[in-house]
Amino acid sequence: MSETSAAVPERGDARGAHLAHNYHPLPVVIASGEGAWVRDVDGRRYLDCLAAYSAVNFGHSNPVLLDAARAQLERITLTSRAFESDMLGPFADRLAALAGKDMVLPMNTGAEAVESAVKIARAWGYRVKGVEPGKANIIVAAGNFHGRTTTIISFSDDPVAHDDFGPYTPGFTTVPYADAAALARAIDDNTVAVLLEPIQGEAGIIVPPADYLPAVREACTANNVLLIADEIQSGLGRTGTTFACDLVGVVPDLYLLGKALGGSIVPVSAVVGDADVLGVLRAGEHGSTFGGNPLAASVGLAVIAMLETGEPQRRARELGERMHQQLHALVGEGVVAVRGVGLWAGIDISPALGTGREVCERLMARGVLAKDTHESTIRLAPPLVVEQADLDWALEQLAAVLRELREARAA
Ligand SMILES: *Cc1c(COP(=O)(O)O)cnc(C)c1O
Repeated sequence: MSETSAAVPERGDARGAHLAHNYHPLPVVIASGEGAWVRDVDGRRYLDCLAAYSAVNFGHSNPVLLDAARAQLERITLTSRAFESDMLGPFADRLAALAGKDMVLPMNTGAEAVESAVKIARAWGYRVKGVEPGKANIIVAAGNFHGRTTTIISFSDDPVAHDDFGPYTPGFTTVPYADAAALARAIDDNTVAVLLEPIQGEAGIIVPPADYLPAVREACTANNVLLIADEIQSGLGRTGTTFACDLVGVVPDLYLLGKALGGSIVPVSAVVGDADVLGVLRAGEHGSTFGGNPLAASVGLAVIAMLETGEPQRRARELGERMHQQLHALVGEGVVAVRGVGLWAGIDISPALGTGREVCERLMARGVLAKDTHESTIRLAPPLVVEQADLDWALEQLAAVLRELREARAA
């Protein structure tokens, strides 16, 4: 161990010299945040247009969520599931009602919700559908992102996420995204589930045609296959609806929720479904020490109460419509394509102009934080509490950055 390994970095040089290199952050050191704004260690303000990949849907330091967390901190924070706790029942009731389902399995991270759903689907396959032991398969889509565990990266086709981490978990079949016919052809007698993002987030906010998910739902129902919707990034208001599946009137068998469910305070995830599916789990077969802990349940409950008002969804819908109009006006001005719905956009920057990273660095210099993905795409996903005027200003900064880059390339 080096001498400095235990040293706490000074403010201002808090760049994390001892951190593993699994992220490549923009060079901004955030110290505080409120609403859609954050402040760095030198007091500079930035509009957060990433919102921790949609985990901060309700804004930084949301006073209602902080009150719920504070009140719970003073009472009790962890009991384990060995005992019952008074916040978990109400959390499960209200989350089940929000999703129109019977049952909730509480976990912590998104990846754990996905892993749980894989186990549930397999157990359902053997115990209910009658698949031969060890033969269950699950259909997934090309371009998927469902998390970072060894099983989940086994069915990722992103070499950066996948390569050098094998041996890989078998039992998954990949089909092209947004091609319902190809998906239906891949279903066989051993298929227990289809696992999809209703809108692919990390792939660059890929919105499939409106008839895709309904056709997948139909193929699943016709073949006695579960439809599992990974709404960890798309759900809980981001798209202007409670779930992205609502946009096309599709009800999956299992919803996977995470990110925003924790109100940006604690990791909270869940699998939500009906008793005929989630009910296959028996006592002792699955669990988590922290899953559904009192602090998580009380924050989750406060998040659900916000969504029950419909206000975050309405804001995402209205602000999102205007944002997409403004973004579409940039097509041809350095932007090749814009995708998305609600307060969620993937913007492809013309490679001739520069990389997504370059655009994000220039945005940062102007006080706007966004993140690039796949070289030339940038994602905008501000907290749903963002003010109209602030969002308009951020889009002006994007237009200005594109102008700068056009002029730099022309010179
Ligand atoms: C972020 C994400 C996950 C993984 O969530 P973690 O909390 O990072 O484990 C899974 N699925 C989707 C669609 C996501 O965006």
